[in-house]
Amino acid sequence: MNHYLFPPPPVRSLPIRGTAQRFPINRLFFVGRNYHAHAVEMGRPVDKSTENPFYFTKSPSSLVESGATIPYPPRTQNYHYEMELVLAIGKPGFRVREDQAHELIYGYAAGLDMTRRDLQLVARDKGRPWDTGKDIENGAVCTDIVPMEGVVMSQGAITLEVNGVTKQSSNVDKLIWNIREIIADLSTYYHLQPGDLIYTGTPEGVGPVVAGDRLTGRVEGIAEVSLHIGPAE
Ligand code: MN
Repeated sequence: MNHYLFPPPPVRSLPIRGTAQRFPINRLFFVGRNYHAHAVEMGRPVDKSTENPFYFTKSPSSLVESGATIPYPPRTQNYHYEMELVLAIGKPGFRVREDQAHELIYGYAAGLDMTRRDLQLVARDKGRPWDTGKDIENGAVCTDIVPMEGVVMSQGAITLEVNGVTKQSSNVDKLIWNIREIIADLSTYYHLQPGDLIYTGTPEGVGPVVAGDRLTGRVEGIAEVSLHIGPAE
């Protein structure tokens, strides 16, 4: 007999391109304000010489695969897209040196860090946690994982269209903290584990969606992510 009172939550996972195996998810990390133009549009410019990167997390249960239709979420009037390059960790690491950071990289994906902007900004301005603004059911969208072991992505166009109109257009070479720096810094807070995903931040041009919108985002050389916003429940 199963000794659990009720069935435990399923292991969340993503397809891996080119294989029938799936990538099991451990944690979902997100880098805040990692493109200068986005930091400025949020009214919080970043000075890398005096600031450290910061992070927030979402529950693995918030993960939804690219191509899904999701309901417009509750308790927001300003649901935003944030198009991001996603880094998939394949090996454990703690206090990883920048010059060894590539050893943890399994691959990459394209993702959307969906955000209740109204709730996030209230939380930010009142010094409260961001959870209700960020950790949203179906709020972490991701494509399949593209295996690229040990490859440090340093450039590639990153774009997002809503209903065919371009809203975000930048390049991952504009990351304030690059892939090596993110792995090294995040691994000073956490023992990184295989199955951790790191959403690396969004460029400028974030904005709201409404029911019926179709989002299509691309990271050059990686993947195309799509999402359809359905009516509110
Ligand atoms: Mn983000």
